[in-house]
Amino acid sequence: MQYRTVPKNGDRLSALGFGAMRLPTRMGRIDEARAIKQIRSAIESGVNYLDTAYPYHGGESERVLGKALEDGYRERVKIADKLSPWLVDSREEMERILEIQLNRLRTDHIDYYLLHMLDARSWKKLVDLDVFAFLEAARDAGTITNIGFSFHGDRKTFREIIDAYDWTFCQIQYNFLDEEVQAGREGLAYAASKQIAVMVMEPLRGGMLAGDLPDEAQAAYDRSGLSRTPAEWALRWIWDHPDVTTVLSGMNDERHIRENLLTCEDALPGSMTDAERAVVDEVKAVYKRLIRVDCTGCAYCMPCPFGVNIPQCFHFYNQYHMTGNRLMTRGFYIGQVIGFDDNPANASRCRSCGKCLGACPQGIDIPRELKKVGRDLDGLATKLMTPLVKMVMTKRQRE
Ligand code: SF4
Ligand code: SF4
Repeated sequence: MQYRTVPKNGDRLSALGFGAMRLPTRMGRIDEARAIKQIRSAIESGVNYLDTAYPYHGGESERVLGKALEDGYRERVKIADKLSPWLVDSREEMERILEIQLNRLRTDHIDYYLLHMLDARSWKKLVDLDVFAFLEAARDAGTITNIGFSFHGDRKTFREIIDAYDWTFCQIQYNFLDEEVQAGREGLAYAASKQIAVMVMEPLRGGMLAGDLPDEAQAAYDRSGLSRTPAEWALRWIWDHPDVTTVLSGMNDERHIRENLLTCEDALPGSMTDAERAVVDEVKAVYKRLIRVDCTGCAYCMPCPFGVNIPQCFHFYNQYHMTGNRLMTRGFYIGQVIGFDDNPANASRCRSCGKCLGACPQGIDIPRELKKVGRDLDGLATKLMTPLVKMVMTKRQRE
């Protein structure tokens, strides 16, 4: 395992961190046994930074993580957890949430405590609530150790927040598609210039940079002559930055965990060649041209009172425009989003109620974009194709 140092406290953190936002699920709930096994095996392979948050998996992420860290695993790792501004309106509520978090995590302290998903509005709210008095009291009491924040706002606000406090660390969205988005490359360098450790989230853009690639992007990777998966390319690009401390990957598949651990071994700062960076630039240009909605699949916008599965709708919409196989994408959309029971979750169910507006860290106008998804994926072609997809899926289930 490769370790990188947190400048202000000297902690040696694994360059690969375990993100507990997308743990493996079964029948809509965390597959606990599998998640615990994955977390423990990652720790045994050297991962020592685990990231969760109060709302992840409806509170279950913290609880499962706490369980996974029993039997001596807690002492081997640093836990990162977050205070979500939208859940608090007073100091008492902050204290109550921290207490719940400690209980769920079965620990007496959280090593890295973040103000969650800051932007200009939530930052102002927390400052007005005198959040630092709460944080410093918790630090003095020993229930939290290091203070940081995660960020989804604009670059100006990022600088303002960085300058406002003596942070130990921050967490930003960073990947080759988001070099100029939110804090971006400039924010990364600015934080590092202030000796603030930078944890990276969304390194694979919710899987978009790792899964079914646009043909042209895959061709660019193939031309490099290097035998690497798209995920490996994307992760290497981030670890190449010396200012990055830890990359949080929301891992829930054993194969991916093994692959990421292997990549991390020699993806050292400055280890990419100019030719390799040029390959990634080429792939980036393809994505920028084809992508329709900048959704990372984080699900902060969920649940929708009308049952729309917003991230899934955007996922298939992007796939529809990025990959060559539109027929197959439509088939998956029918099978996985529309489904064949009484709970369809397709885009056309959106009633523009506005509940999700403002919830998206990417600033997506969700109802407006869903209308476009509906136009492409809920039309006549889908209606005609639905019986066929149903027949194929029923046959597969019988087999
Ligand atoms: S605006 Fe549409 S997608 Fe958003 S919560 Fe309302 S119905 Fe659901
Ligand atoms: S629409 Fe926004 S909030 Fe919803 S999953 Fe996508 S990125 Fe997350």
